[in-house]
Amino acid sequence: MVFIIMQGEKGEIMKNYFNSTRNKTLHTSVKDAILQGLAPDGGLYVTDKLGHTVLNLNDLLPMTYEEMAPIILSALLPGFTTNELETAVFHAYHNSFSSKEVTPVVSIDEDKNFLLELFHGPTSAFKDVALQMLPQLMSLALKNQGDKQVMILAATSGDTGKAALCGFQDVPRTGILVFYPKDGTSAIQRLQMETQEGSNTSVCALIGNFDDAQSKVKELFHSPSLQALCDEKNILFSSANSINIGRLAPQAVYYFYSYFQLVKRGKIALGDEIDFCVPTGNFGDILAGYYAKLLGLPVHKLIVASNANNVLTDFFTTGTYDRRRPFHKTLSPSMDILISSNLERLLYYMSGNDDVYTKELMDSLQENGHYTIKPSLLAKLKETFYAGYCTDEQCKQEIHTVYEEQNYVLDPHTAVGYHVMKQYQQEEKEQRPCVLLSTASPYKFCGQVYEAITGTLPEADEFALMELLSEKTNTEIPKNLSELKEKPILHNTVISKEDMDSYVLEKTKELFMKR
Ligand SMILES: *Cc1c(COP(=O)(O)O)cnc(C)c1O
Repeated sequence: MVFIIMQGEKGEIMKNYFNSTRNKTLHTSVKDAILQGLAPDGGLYVTDKLGHTVLNLNDLLPMTYEEMAPIILSALLPGFTTNELETAVFHAYHNSFSSKEVTPVVSIDEDKNFLLELFHGPTSAFKDVALQMLPQLMSLALKNQGDKQVMILAATSGDTGKAALCGFQDVPRTGILVFYPKDGTSAIQRLQMETQEGSNTSVCALIGNFDDAQSKVKELFHSPSLQALCDEKNILFSSANSINIGRLAPQAVYYFYSYFQLVKRGKIALGDEIDFCVPTGNFGDILAGYYAKLLGLPVHKLIVASNANNVLTDFFTTGTYDRRRPFHKTLSPSMDILISSNLERLLYYMSGNDDVYTKELMDSLQENGHYTIKPSLLAKLKETFYAGYCTDEQCKQEIHTVYEEQNYVLDPHTAVGYHVMKQYQQEEKEQRPCVLLSTASPYKFCGQVYEAITGTLPEADEFALMELLSEKTNTEIPKNLSELKEKPILHNTVISKEDMDSYVLEKTKELFMKR
């Protein structure tokens, strides 16, 4: 057992382990942290216990994904019992992933590097790994809360929306409402959402861009009319993105899983350090790698890969985070982001759990659009992190070359990671294996991928393009994507920003009246 879990007589958790990154006196239990999503002062929930205890690698080595997940999660989420976590993991992964391994590892670059395929979940997004778990954790957190229900509000640029809808579909005492920018997603991503089933799900297109959707959703959390409805009906509004610790923690598991795969295949000895390279947007996925390191995983470098929105590359190079720059739409849209929210958690831990300093930096970002960290902190970050970026041209080139030379089809996000991994390995003299996190199925971006591989883009709809890519590369189309063709459209509402308040009010009533 990793943590001593303090429980009261009725199984209630006594310890308030989690506090805001911006104010240590704002603390609460893990279950409340998960239900709330964000701390009341806008900070993110962290626990100072992280890193106090390390996991025993020998014990974990022989385990399957489903066996090791509850042990790793109980170290990150003190306050859940191992029993609870075992059940949650079973429901999240046992039948919903197309690979028994959950996240299989594939060898590339003549066995020098490895791809960790995270896209075998029900919506072909890496976000499934976390969003299949989050509803399980929320259900557990609701257990001792009377008849309280949770309404998830989410703005999405594509992948988060579908993965969250799928995760929360028909989960008791929850409802979910997703907004996506009307012309801002890929055709496949839109279809994935429009065909969503489930009695507690709702999807709506918004006239505007992703930022409009995102900022409006944030405003809604403070809307007086919604607050009144919540109080009356005992409903809590929460968030499903990676600022929620319940979504972040499940991502640490696959770092361990892939490490053990390398040991089992004789590529490294138990205890050897390896590198991980992560296509990064909101900094959630790579932060989970840092959490894994704090739990004792032998991680040498964490490589932060960005596209032309290279705010993180600049930050890790100069120590200045500056969001005052043009926003680029790229081939890797899930990484088109200028505010990487989870970096705040890294700053907290790396500054020695300094809430005052973290708040100072975040206030500066909010008020001035930039901040600069102390040189000593930058030096410390550089010991563990390396950062680089990749242009769209380079991204297409990597997809082309890796297919030609290795017969493997990269999606554009993973191709960005591949480019930066190679750049790092050229600069670094000492070579060690690197695990590259592969975050999406190429079939979600089949037009761009087909074009990168063949040099031509035929006039055809998404489904015909999937067939073409499949024939050309001799790979299988994920069933959840090919099936979309036959599914009826269930959600076709389009609204403007002004109507969002009343829409959410109406939908919330409707979703919770059904039961
Ligand atoms: C969300 C996403 C990312 C970025 O992950 P973060 O945790 O936000 O850094 C990368 N690739 C794909 C395909 C994604 O959907």
